[in-house]
Amino acid sequence: MWIDTHCHLDAHEFGDESAAQAALAKAQGVGMIVIPAVETANFPIVAGLAASVDNACYALGIHPIYVPNAKEDDLRVLREQVAVAMADPRFVALGEIGLDFFIPMLTEPAMREKQVFFFREQLKIAREFELPVLMHVRRSQDVILKHVRQIPPAGGIAHAFNGSDQQAKMYIDLGFKLGFGGAMTFTRALQIRRMAAELPLDTIVLETDAPDISPSWVHPGRNSPDQIPRIGAVLAELRGMTVEQVATATTANARAALPRMLLK
Ligand SMILES: [Zn+2]
Repeated sequence: MWIDTHCHLDAHEFGDESAAQAALAKAQGVGMIVIPAVETANFPIVAGLAASVDNACYALGIHPIYVPNAKEDDLRVLREQVAVAMADPRFVALGEIGLDFFIPMLTEPAMREKQVFFFREQLKIAREFELPVLMHVRRSQDVILKHVRQIPPAGGIAHAFNGSDQQAKMYIDLGFKLGFGGAMTFTRALQIRRMAAELPLDTIVLETDAPDISPSWVHPGRNSPDQIPRIGAVLAELRGMTVEQVATATTANARAALPRMLLK
């Protein structure tokens, strides 16, 4: 069995096919798909989608790319919704939260400051409810690490990991798993492939980030959660392991990172 630890199954790119995509993934052995939220407006959508299929769960949070449009009151809404969702077995984490210092508009001083404020406030909510976090880390590895050290959540996942060996070690020491997906399938992605091959196996989880970060054989098409087994097969080849060993280990790692996740 496989787990897609990061999939925006509610994205408009999937149109009315979201539930069908979950079923397609299930037929390929993907027993669980984690759907992160991006803004308060899609909180009910991710929760509803997770409830409507039998192989999905969800997280609630405000994504850094949505911070420019977010209001401070959205943090109150998030905290309230999290408090309610704690009774929902399909609610597994706070996310997607993080810092994006790649998109130019997000790197202007006032917007950097607003991103950091939203990130820290969400880390505080994660701590209050003892929840793991799903983190978007883009050109912001060290800044994220600094804030996570100050306000440590109950672990979680650094999604689409693309840092250095030293940064990987720091995330691991802080109790995080590292998410690997489509980027690892490109032969030119030397550093990501080397890290996927060499990091301790118990630190790696698989993800699609669908509809984004398509694997090489789909690129530039739309990514989907049924790609996870083939992405896992790439990891197995890089590590010289069997596909079954990779499926078993990455599933166990996802369960360890997201202990609220219920698997059949
Ligand atoms: Zn995402």
